[in-house]
Formats: sequence, structure tokens, C-alpha cells
Amino acid sequence: MLQEAIQDLRGRTRGEVIEPAGGGYEAAREAYNAMASGRPVVIFRPADLTDIVTAVRWAAGSDLPIGVRGGGHSVAGHSSPDGALLVDLSRWRGATVDPATRTADALAGSRLMDLDAATFAYGLAAPSGTFIDTGIGGLTLSGGISWLLSSEGYACDALIGAQLVTADGDVLEVDEEHEPELLWGLRGGGGNFGVVTRLRYALTEVPAMFGGRLRFRGSSLRDSILRTFEVEASAPDELVLAMVAWRAEDGSPSISVNVGWRGDPESGMAAVSALATHPACYESDLKPMNWLQQQTLYQPIPFGLRQYWKGHLIGQLDETLADALIASASEASDESFALVELIHGRAHRIPESHAAFGGRSAVANVTALAIWEDAADDAAEIAWARRFADRVSPLSLRGGGYLNYPEIDQTASRVAAAYPPDSWARLRGLKRRLDPHNRFRFNANIPPADA
Ligand SMILES: Cc1cc2nc3c(=O)[nH]c(=O)nc-3n(C[C@H](O)[C@H](O)[C@H](O)COP(=O)(O)OP(=O)(O)OC[C@H]3O[C@@H](n4cnc5c(N)ncnc54)[C@H](O)[C@@H]3O)c2cc1C
Repeated sequence: MLQEAIQDLRGRTRGEVIEPAGGGYEAAREAYNAMASGRPVVIFRPADLTDIVTAVRWAAGSDLPIGVRGGGHSVAGHSSPDGALLVDLSRWRGATVDPATRTADALAGSRLMDLDAATFAYGLAAPSGTFIDTGIGGLTLSGGISWLLSSEGYACDALIGAQLVTADGDVLEVDEEHEPELLWGLRGGGGNFGVVTRLRYALTEVPAMFGGRLRFRGSSLRDSILRTFEVEASAPDELVLAMVAWRAEDGSPSISVNVGWRGDPESGMAAVSALATHPACYESDLKPMNWLQQQTLYQPIPFGLRQYWKGHLIGQLDETLADALIASASEASDESFALVELIHGRAHRIPESHAAFGGRSAVANVTALAIWEDAADDAAEIAWARRFADRVSPLSLRGGGYLNYPEIDQTASRVAAAYPPDSWARLRGLKRRLDPHNRFRFNANIPPADA
């Protein structure tokens, strides 16, 4: 029966239909996280918009849920959905820029590198993320933390338009004039409302960056962490800091403070001089760079490792966090680390009403990233990440984490806690209008409001 239906899909579309029994299926379903590989009923790579409409309607007729894949970086495995139609947009890549309006249109399967390369040619950039191989789709729809966070806000704040195919197969052109409520929902509501095929961003000029890493260790490590919090508390919008806590080869805890300064090197150096001259700082590679160099500060992490991430969006920076970082770094395995993405400036000043994103007042995204290879280490690695999340939970805004860094066993209550109650109710209303049967459920899921 299902086999006939798949044949029917193949007959009615121009795209690639990949079945479990056919060639290429295992590679096509591979998840970023080896812990989270589901088996889709069929993987569909659409050739055009009509194909997506046909496939979405076909899924409704076959009573199948629908998953969507862009860059494929979902740590929770949302883009390798079990028992579903997977609409794979990973080949829908490319972006065009209109320098006159300072906007970019990107196909929804684009990676950050596609958007960055297109905008960089005009001296422009969109706030997106910090790993160039991640997909813009998932990243933007659930927030988007980048080196422009403090000066431009989250990636979703710069989202000014989109094209979306609803669960009924309707094609909606979304912007402030048409579908303003849906535009609000796409700014943080994740992949809940349909297949986004195209995203439009407001761009900003980025002539120069000054960035790199400062590394800290030793007896005044705790003080250097607290000093970083002080620097952050009075930092100008140009500065973005991210802290990484890891265990050094000798077993001691270490911290790196990764820096992205938007502007000239002298002012950038002045902004972080209290850190660069701290007695615990043993290494610095800060230097002037252009936007693309800043975007490649981090090396991509390969697919196929085992991963468990867990954390919180937090409301204050204090000793609790400093102690949690030191304790968890001391207990970390070789590849695992705790990440603190510090948040201030414009990310806070954009009104709550602009976006559904629920962490507007968070001063940091704090997450343990357990990364390992051997399944025998699953329990220990997961316990390590959970322990870190527990240690910082007293600082949590509402008990939720950053939805782009989901744990694979994320509960419905942790998803709801990521939003203020009024936004959650509004999102559930939007979900009911656009996807009443919750066909798009492989995400940080928003259940449709009751009738
Ligand atoms: C190594 C690594 C580095 C990262 N760095 C950052 C960072 O610097 N900043 C940051 O904010 N986040 C970062 N993230 C998190 C990242 O934002 C999420 O993993 C995000 O889901 C990646 O998007 P994707 O399109 O690659 O994901 P996919 O796995 O393709 O999609 C994830 C989910 O997003 C939804 N989705 C994706 N595309 C669409 C679409 N077109 N239409 C509808 N729904 C869609 C679907 O629900 C899908 O299941 C990082 C993740 C990893 C693994």
C-alpha cells in the first residue's frame, strides 16, 4: 500500500524519491548526531516549489508526518525523522543580495557560508551563526546566535520575509505586510508552521572585525571568569564574547574567551584589555580580520559523532556559573566542553513584540556539549551534560534552554518553558491555523491550540 503511494509520489514529481530499500538512503538519512538517527519512510529532494506542494499534500493523503532538513545540524535528530516523509532541502542552496535595499534572499537549504559569501561581496552581512557549515533554516527559525548578536540581535530578528508551504500545501508569501503574525512566529517558533523555502534578511555593513581567542588557566581562573562577566556587563554593542570551559591534558580546568569585535582593532583591544592582561591569561591570538575570517574562527564539527547537549538561557551571571564551569571542566572528557554565549546590547533592546523568540532577556546561553565516539561512554557523557545543566538551573530564565541546542530527550515542558506564557499561547494559535494536525512535529514542537 505504502509502496504504491511512494510510486505515486515518484510519478507526480520531478524530484528525487529515496526509499529505504533503494541506493543512497543510508547516506541521505545520516544525522549530525549519531545518537539520533531516525528512519524516514521516504526522503524527498524536491526539484521545485510545485514538488514541495505535491509532496506535502501527498503526506496528508498518506497520513504521514513531515520532517524538514536544511543543513542537517539538528542535535536532537529532528531532520532524520522516524516514520515520516522527510523533505530534504539540503540541495536548495544559494543567496542573492540587493545592495540598494540591503537585503538578501536565501534558499532555505543554504548553509551560513552561502549567505556569507553572497553578502561579503558587498561589504554586508546578516546576523546568523558562528559555524559556517550549519544551515540557515533551522538556525534562523529558532534564534541564531552570531558575532553580530550584540549589535544586530538574533538571526531571527533580521528575518524580514519568507516563503512557506503550509500543511495543506498552500504557498504563503510572508512579510510584515502580508502575514505579520506568521512572520512573528517564524522569528523563533522553529519549523512548526510548514516548509520554509526561502528566507529574506535585512543586512548590515561590516567593514572590519577584530577577533580570536584568549586562553586562561591556573590559580586565578575563577577570578578571570568573574572578570569576563564584568567586562560583559559594560560592553559596547560591538563586542561579542563566548566562553568555552574544557579540561586540559593535565586534567586542570581551562577557559577560552572567544572574541568578535565589530570595528577597528585598537578599540577592540581596548574593550578586552582587562581580560588580555589578566594573570590567568596565557595565550592570545586576537587579530584584525574580515567578516569571512571571523566566520571561520570555529572549525566545523564532523557528522557521525555521539552528542548530548543540555543547557539553559540564564538571567544573571554570577559565582554559580563560574563554579559550575570550573567543576564541569574538571570532570569533562576529551572532546566535551561547556559553552557560555554572552548576550547584551541590541539583542536585549529589540522589543519582545518583534519576535516569538522567547529568550529576549537572557544574558547568556549556557550549554554543556558532550561529544564522544564510543557507545560505551553514553551514560557517563549524558550524566556529565545533565550535571552541568543542573548546576546552572538556579540561574535559568524559566527552566528552558536555547531551542537550537536541544537535548535529544527534550521534554514538552522544556520546550514550553522556552517561551513566555503569552507567546506560547499565541504560537499555539498560529500552529492551529497552519498545521492543525501537527504534521510538522519533528522540531521543538508547539502543539496546536485546542479548538
Ligand atoms: C556544530 C554546530 C554549530 C552550531 N553553531 C551555532 C551557532 O553558532 N549559532 C546558533 O544559533 N546555532 C548554532 N547551532 C545550532 C543550529 O542553529 C541548529 O542545529 C539548527 O537546527 C541548524 O539548522 P539546520 O538547517 O542545519 O538544521 P536541520 O537539522 O536541517 O533542521 C533542524 C530543524 O529545523 C527545522 N527546519 C530547518 N529548515 C527548515 C525549513 N526550511 N522549513 C521548516 N523547518 C525547517 C526543522 O524542524 C528541522 O528538523 C550549531 C549546531 C551545530 C551542530
